[in-house]
Amino acid sequence: MALTLRAQVAAAIRAHGIEIYPNECCGALIGRDGVVEEAFGLPNTTEEGPRRRFMVRPQDYRAAEGRATELGLDLMGFYHTHPDHPARPSQYDLDHAWPFFSYVILAVHSGVPQDMTSWLLQEDRAAFTEEPLIEELLPQDTLSPSGHAAP
Ligand SMILES: [Zn+2]
Repeated sequence: MALTLRAQVAAAIRAHGIEIYPNECCGALIGRDGVVEEAFGLPNTTEEGPRRRFMVRPQDYRAAEGRATELGLDLMGFYHTHPDHPARPSQYDLDHAWPFFSYVILAVHSGVPQDMTSWLLQEDRAAFTEEPLIEELLPQDTLSPSGHAAP
């Protein structure tokens, strides 16, 4: 199984990560059949402070599910950023993850987006398994005769 992000979804996650840097941002992944159609940003506030954002509270979960229902799609997982850390799950991430969801992690170094990865919790919850992450290209990427992405 691979997770596919629409081009605008990947762009929205990067934009959110840049905006919230040096804090962690977090949001929901909404789509269907392995394709994420919307990145639904969640508020950057927790009792522990904004730097340690990756904790999906019950009200966040309900908001994300409500948005998915509104779009006629499914809640597929969550994304968050690792400011100045690699795009690999932490012990904290493992302790707060649920099975069956995809967890997308974007590394942001000095305010610049780097690697983006996706992870699934193993059934025994002991660890994550990385899943292939596919980013769709913007239409102009494929049409551009120079082969360069539009700015
Ligand atoms: Zn994390």
